[in-house]
Amino acid sequence: MTSILDVPAQPGSTDRAESSAEVAQIAPDLEELAQLATALKQLGHVITPDPDWPNQWTSPCPLCIAQGNPDGTMGIFPWQGIEHAGSVAFWCNQHAMHAIGTALGLKTRLMGGVDLGRVEVKQILRALSERGLAYSFRPDSRNSTYDTFHVAQCPLCIKERRLAQDLEIYVDNLLEGDNDTFGHVFVDCDVREHSASILAELNVITRRSLGQDYGAVGWDDEGDQGEDWLIESIVERGQSALIYGPTGAKKSLFSQEQAFRLAKQGHRVLYLDHENQPAEVNKRRRAMEYPAAALSTLKYLSFPPVSALDTPEGAAQLHALVKAVRPDVIFLDTWSKFLNGDEASPSTHTAVYNLAIIPLRSQGITVIALDHSGKDLGRGPRGGSSKKDNVDVMWLQTVKSDGRIRLERKKTRTGRGPDLIELECLTGPLRHERIEQRRGDVLPPDVRACVAKLDELEVPPGWGRDKASPVLRANGFRIRNEALASAMRVRRERGNAPADTLDLSGTGGDRFEGE
Ligand SMILES: [Zn+2]
Ligand SMILES: [Zn+2]
Repeated sequence: MTSILDVPAQPGSTDRAESSAEVAQIAPDLEELAQLATALKQLGHVITPDPDWPNQWTSPCPLCIAQGNPDGTMGIFPWQGIEHAGSVAFWCNQHAMHAIGTALGLKTRLMGGVDLGRVEVKQILRALSERGLAYSFRPDSRNSTYDTFHVAQCPLCIKERRLAQDLEIYVDNLLEGDNDTFGHVFVDCDVREHSASILAELNVITRRSLGQDYGAVGWDDEGDQGEDWLIESIVERGQSALIYGPTGAKKSLFSQEQAFRLAKQGHRVLYLDHENQPAEVNKRRRAMEYPAAALSTLKYLSFPPVSALDTPEGAAQLHALVKAVRPDVIFLDTWSKFLNGDEASPSTHTAVYNLAIIPLRSQGITVIALDHSGKDLGRGPRGGSSKKDNVDVMWLQTVKSDGRIRLERKKTRTGRGPDLIELECLTGPLRHERIEQRRGDVLPPDVRACVAKLDELEVPPGWGRDKASPVLRANGFRIRNEALASAMRVRRERGNAPADTLDLSGTGGDRFEGE
């Protein structure tokens, strides 16, 4: 049995203790402290109270000394996290606690936490190898904040047929304050949204995945706080958005206005313009009355020398630009001008998303791409469904005969906000203001579901209840008569709406596409 008497008494100062937030509040595990003191003493080292902080000690680092560095000093303090509270933490600038402790023949609770994490990492690596997902070992730096760091292929990226992103697997080894994930295993994909689901996908349960901080739903009584609009009702922060429409739909004008406004609000904006001459952009800026001095956070590049974004070189150039500009939001005007491959081929667009866009998304950067529609507006942007599959929100922008901009939502991942927005063009200064909002989410859920079902079954909007009702029933869809009537009214109103859209395609008509 070791004695605590091996540890010198603490001089300390109560006044100082109260004045510092960094002072350890949880007392050290005296038995662990004594074991450490004894092990060090056998090597001829003494633990000394830290003159500046109560409840903290220093001693020479046995590993540093063994490696010929007599000045290596380690700090010793009681762990402040809830898990393993009071367990003795110790480290030097060169050596991690686990390495020093193992050399001293110690087994503290904190070291045991890392051991558990290592077991969990082995389970994860086994599950990965069973699925044929390659992984490699990246050696620790000596005092790494990560323990047993591995890189593998992400099973969810593979499943979603994305270009496989790096999956990082490691034990949190960061000895800092009250870090309550110390010793826990982290499994993080470059695609941030994947990280919460990977362990479930692999059928592995770890301490961390059992913990509340990991994948648990936060119960929120304050209503929907997920709403975070970058452009009100149109694009949410961090989304990948596509705004498409025919030539002459004022797509550039509207996006430039948003870019100027966001920059004036202090957002960092990168606008890559392959459509408009600088003189024209400046003319619009002046008409919108945004002084140059207000746009210091807007980097507006006219005909930028960036290679096609469906190539690795182009993607790398964009990422270098992003690293330099550090934008919150990027505008790409126009999508087709950033391509090398066949615009009609879905793989061209998928390559842009995989190479160029996804890495931006994982950094939380909002990407807004403008795009030309095909001849038939109803058939969506050129290049087919691959674009739609890869964006969070997609809007069809047209200009009505009265000059108003009409934005019709063709896809939403979050379901928040209206499906239809109209903007009036005003002057003095030149600007666009919302004049109408039909909030799709005001509809009761059963009405909304019924609208979606009628769309799916391609029931013509002109049909009456007597004809539509049997079709729904035959397809196993049950609905109150009242709700059905509302749904049909919504579809009739909506079905008529596109008629006043100025048709610039020359093919006549705009087919509404339900989403
Ligand atoms: Zn050391
Ligand atoms: Zn992934």
